[in-house]
Amino acid sequence: MRLLIVEDEPTLGELLRRNLAARGFAVDLAPSKAEAIAFLDAEEYDAVLLDRGLGDGDGMSLVGHIRGRGSEAGILILTARDAPADRIAGLDAGADDYIVKPFDMDELIARVRAVLRRPGKRLSTVLEVANLRFDAAQRRAYVAEQPLDLSRQEAALLDLLMRKEGAVVRRDEIQRSLYNFDDEVTPNAVDAAISRLRKKLRGAGAAVEIAVLRGVGCMLEAKRQDLAAAAAPPR
Ligand code: CA
Repeated sequence: MRLLIVEDEPTLGELLRRNLAARGFAVDLAPSKAEAIAFLDAEEYDAVLLDRGLGDGDGMSLVGHIRGRGSEAGILILTARDAPADRIAGLDAGADDYIVKPFDMDELIARVRAVLRRPGKRLSTVLEVANLRFDAAQRRAYVAEQPLDLSRQEAALLDLLMRKEGAVVRRDEIQRSLYNFDDEVTPNAVDAAISRLRKKLRGAGAAVEIAVLRGVGCMLEAKRQDLAAAAAPPR
């Protein structure tokens, strides 16, 4: 899941970026309205955290910009203002939630998840396919209840593929979901991540398959029962 944080206070912006990245999100940080627009024009985000008081204007005006482009990104407004009229204005403008500063970091993360949990986003906490389970809040995977050791990136990839179980996930979607603009992404980074995840799942005896469509993307699905039964025992 890809997030954009629009926040002009460097300390708070960095704190948000670090905490959300630690939960497995790919995060970009824009310190002004102008930079936020540049990010929004270049990338598709699953959610945007928007500070209202920015150096170059009211962050709220970006809500219209985001919705005007037809984006269904979850929008959370961050603000020091607590007047009910402000909240109503924010929600009426098309925001999904309104968070008053100072806020508790765990609560903010829970509310980001809640916004992403809307229909079509499927951000449920626990994902299950066959004997594979992924706890999205804890960022932990289990095969037949045995914990599977995954890197942050492998966990993010598994999260994405399990959410879209049985559907082809395109390479560009994988790339934008795993990496932010600061990451150096080599052309075969996505292939390498897929290959490492497949190897780990196979090694752990997960009853799922990641089918790769060369140059297009990949798809995770449960192994068919008959195939699983006929398969040779693990080497
Ligand atoms: Ca501010």
